Amino acid sequence: METMADDLKRMEWTPGNCYNFHPGSHVGQGMETGIGLIAAQLNALITPEQTTTVLLETMAGKGSEVGGRFEELREIIDRVDPGIRDHVGVCLDTCHVWDGGYDIVGNLDGVLDEFDRTIGLCRLKAIHLNDSQNDRGARKDRHARIGEGHIGTEAMGRIINHPALRDLPFYLETPNELDGYAREIELLHNLRML
Ligand SMILES: [Zn+2]
Repeated sequence: METMADDLKRMEWTPGNCYNFHPGSHVGQGMETGIGLIAAQLNALITPEQTTTVLLETMAGKGSEVGGRFEELREIIDRVDPGIRDHVGVCLDTCHVWDGGYDIVGNLDGVLDEFDRTIGLCRLKAIHLNDSQNDRGARKDRHARIGEGHIGTEAMGRIINHPALRDLPFYLETPNELDGYAREIELLHNLRML
């Protein structure tokens, strides 16, 4: 919590950026308690004056992780004080939502509709673009290189070109080295439709 307080102070030197935040785990205290603790932490750390947006990341729902369901993120945001709620957004991690059970391969529109109904697409500020080593719903959170996992190249193409997503910043968090990233970025450039 102190680290995040420090980070948020430093972030103001480069105003208007996003700060990614893993909601964490409730470690046996129950989802409801976990959600309350996370919201309390955000309420203690976010100030109305700050220009940084704190992004809650969609999680795979591994173990007692909070944030594996869109409803859980919505619950956290609802408990953030209205005066600072505009400083909270969401980062969608493609590997995590897939591992959490959302079918972004077969029904991307449906998943985004659900996101919109539950959280609101206006809160979606960034995408972590990762393939997954696991089947949908495995709740494991093991990233794979783009096109080398269970999400696959075609679905990645649909994700980066989707009208609701295409103008958001995309970040790769794939297990790779520099030349591997260069190949992934080239692959994504080729998939990108103008
Ligand atoms: Zn991520």
